[in-house]
Parts: sequence; structure tokens; C-alpha cells
Amino acid sequence: MNILLASAELAPLAKAGGMADVAAYLPEEWQKSGHKAIVILPKYYDIDIHSYGFRPTHLVLNVPMGDWTEHGSLWQGTIPGTDVPVYLIENDDYFTRHGIYGDPKEFEDNDKRFIFFCRAIFEAAKALNFKPDIIHAHDYHTAFTMPMLRSWYKNDPFFADTAGVYTIHNLAYQGWFKPEKAMEYSSFGMEEFYAGSWFEHRGTVNAMKIGIMFADKITTVSPTYAGEIRTSYFSEGMQDVLNQRGSDLIGILNGVDYDTWNPEKDDFLYSKYSPDYIQGKLENKRKFLEGHGLNESDNLDLPLVGIVSRLTEQKGIDILMHKLEAFIAENKIRFVLLGNGDTMYEDYFRYLRWKYPGRALVHLGYNTELSHRIIACSDFFLLPSRFEPCGLTQMYALKYGTIPIVRRTGGLADTVREYRSDAQTGNGFDFINYNANDMAYAINRALGIYNKAPHWDQIRLNAMSEDYSAARSAAEYLKVFAWALEEK
Ligand code: ADP
Repeated sequence: MNILLASAELAPLAKAGGMADVAAYLPEEWQKSGHKAIVILPKYYDIDIHSYGFRPTHLVLNVPMGDWTEHGSLWQGTIPGTDVPVYLIENDDYFTRHGIYGDPKEFEDNDKRFIFFCRAIFEAAKALNFKPDIIHAHDYHTAFTMPMLRSWYKNDPFFADTAGVYTIHNLAYQGWFKPEKAMEYSSFGMEEFYAGSWFEHRGTVNAMKIGIMFADKITTVSPTYAGEIRTSYFSEGMQDVLNQRGSDLIGILNGVDYDTWNPEKDDFLYSKYSPDYIQGKLENKRKFLEGHGLNESDNLDLPLVGIVSRLTEQKGIDILMHKLEAFIAENKIRFVLLGNGDTMYEDYFRYLRWKYPGRALVHLGYNTELSHRIIACSDFFLLPSRFEPCGLTQMYALKYGTIPIVRRTGGLADTVREYRSDAQTGNGFDFINYNANDMAYAINRALGIYNKAPHWDQIRLNAMSEDYSAARSAAEYLKVFAWALEEK
């Protein structure tokens, strides 16, 4: 199969969240199983094209938008460490500025930027003579490729056999656009926008709905989330749309790139380790704490509870704020955080760092190396998410023998199972209700087995033996692609 993956993010070139990781490992896995995949991404200003070895193709794209033509040019390179081709679409007006979606506020012209990107993807495929069997779009930014495939390119022999698959990574970000502008930029015109049309949702153009309605098949990133989003609590207003397409919607659990996230190979760690050499995990913890100026007199054995996360409402920081301080103040845990996001949450963690020096280790910012170290050196990893489409970090944590404590929702429900000390089964701790007391109770259960034989070794071995490989996830997508082509 020829697969064209269209995404607004691609690790490590341009990453805001888990979608970037997924967009990177899927094509690599497809290539390994004999398919041809390319990735198309905007040429953002912040991508360090020279260090990643990108060069111009000298191909110029004429991109129809409304009643005018926009221009783009194409750069080529590969996903670092692989031979998967990546093409960057250059346009100074839209992409030569800091940030992917905004800096820090969403750019006002995101409708125009991403509609241009969607239309340019088709022109790029033609210029490159890459005839896709599948266009695989990810989240609202590339959603407009789905109606474009069904309309502007439907009668183009180049795309006659192409099916469109749309993957929902996070329904919380839908791309609500002003109708006049979005319908003009996408060339569909206001006649396509009327109450109940596939372009209309509650009076706006909603790119997420458009992707869902026009795709041949729809996937989302975990089986549990696929069920949750058909109910009003989780659907962010999309339940009717998703139920309408319910028979074409399937959940595929994200996978982990175990070349990057593996304590046996991870060069970011102080000391590599494996299930056979779990002491190496402790060496990482000690070195990490010493790096923060702590020593033997600081009780280095306190359970270390870690978080690596965007700091947004989704991640459950508000319930954490009710209980976390007491755990630190009572010396039950040491806490480490790496994250950035909403000012309100950042300020809370600044406060903890100020009040509990050496006990609340807080790093506000984005730092890949530190994310690996924190996941490796923590004893427990906390994810009390309000909702979690899949979540990658709990799967990373499992591989590193770091025990997840999670709210049982979305992909967290599909990957973390409560440890039962009678049977010695399970790999973590969970709670169901979005409630600070239930979360605290789960943390206490987790602390109850810390350093206790035989449970502490057993749960870590259970965790480290989980296999959520990218290869398995990528193979599931291929089945959906075959299904989409069959029913086209
Ligand atoms: P989401 O996509 O909702 O942010 P995921 O768990 O799917 O959540 O993916 C988050 C990704 O971003 C993971 O690879 C995680 O390691 C990374 N990440 C999140 N915050 C940071 C940070 N502050 N520094 C480095 N990496 C981060």
C-alpha cells in the first residue's frame, strides 16, 4: 500500500503532544512491513531543517484557495533515524513564525493555515508522483483533506483509488472556524454550509466533525475512548456525529516506540537497566536526587512520585491540588514534576517548589532528556486525568518499572490494571470517579506496597513485561486501511 500520512505534528521535528510520536512510529512500522509511507508536515519556522538534513526539492505547488491561488514549495528529508520520507510544505505567510498552533495563544488564522496545508497535501502528492491508496489524516488540522478527497479530487484519476482514514487523537480540540472564511478558503462556498450539513455544527464550521463525516473510516487512539466518546460526558458535543458514524469508528491503542523508550537502551539515563537488573533503576533515582543537591541525610528512600505532562484541565491537576500538598507535607512522598501549560497550574507547582525545597522538585518547561530521566527514576507515575484518549506516558512508565497511578478512563483503562496482592497480578493502581479522595486512596494503596517484598518486585516485573509495541498498533491500522479500500 502507498500511505500518505498528513499531520500537524511529527516527533522530533514538531511536537506538542502524543500525536507527534504516533505520526513518527506508524510510517516507520508500515515501511518495515513492506508498505510505502510518506509524511507531509508544514515547514514550521522552529524546525531545525539543517540539523535534520532537509533540502529543497525545487518543486513549486499551486494551491487553489477560494478564487485565488496560493503557492508553496516542498522540502524533503526523512524522519530522523529512519528512511521514511518527510516532505515539508513551505509558505512564509502561514508557517514562518514561532509555534505550531500559537505562541502561546492559538493563531487567529489557523483556519487559513491548515486549510491551505490540507489542499497543498494533494498538490504535493501529485508533484511527487506519490499515488496514495490511503490518506491518513490526524485531528482537526488535517480534517479538511477528507471532504477535499471526496470533492475536488474525486474525479482526478490520480486519486481515483484513494480512501480517507481520519484518526481522532483528542476531541477537546475541534477547530471551530468562522463559516464565511473557512468555506471560502476551502473553496466549498457558503452553499454547502446550512443547518445539519456535514460542514455545520452548532452554527460554526467544525473541522473535527468534517473529518469524522467525510472519512471512509474513523479511528481513535484506544478502544475505551472509542466507546466513551459516543456518550455526552466525553464527546465534547460530538456524540450525535460519532453515533451516526459509529459503525465506521474503531479504537486502536497507541503503541510505544521501544527503540526510544526502553531502559535497556536509553542514553538519557544515568544508568541503563532491565527486569534482570532492576537495581539500575535505583541508581537513576539516587543520581537524579543528588543532582538536585540532596544527600543521604535527606531520606533518599522516600517514594518518588513523578508527573510528566502538559498542565491542562484534561490532566486532572485540579483534583491533585486538593491532596498533593498533604502527601508532601507529611513526608509520605517526594514529588517531581516536568510540565508546562496553564498559568494557574504552573503557579501552584511554583508554590510547592518554594514551600518544600528538596521535596517538591518542579521543572516548568519542555525537556525531552528530563522526561526520560523522570520516568526512569520515579517509583510511581501519577495520571489522574479527567479524560485521556490514550496517554503514552503511562505506557512508557510501565516499561521503566515505574508504577502508574491513574484514573480509569480512555487508554489508561486499557493499559493499567489494579495490582492484587493476593494473586500478585496487575501493574498499577487506579480509581474510577473523578474525585480527589478516591485519588488519594489509590495513592495510599500504592504506597502500601512500596519496598514490601514480594509485591514491590512483582509489580515492577509485571509492569516491565507489558508489551504495547508500535508494531502491533501499526498492524491494526493496516487492517482498517484494507477495510476502507474494500468498502470504497
Ligand atoms: P497528550 O498528547 O495529551 O499530551 P500523551 O501522553 O499522549 O499526552 O503524550 C504526551 C507526550 O509528550 C509524551 O511523549 C510525553 O513524554 C511528552 N511530554 C509531555 N510534557 C512534556 C514536557 N514538559 N517535556 C517533555 N516531554 C513532554
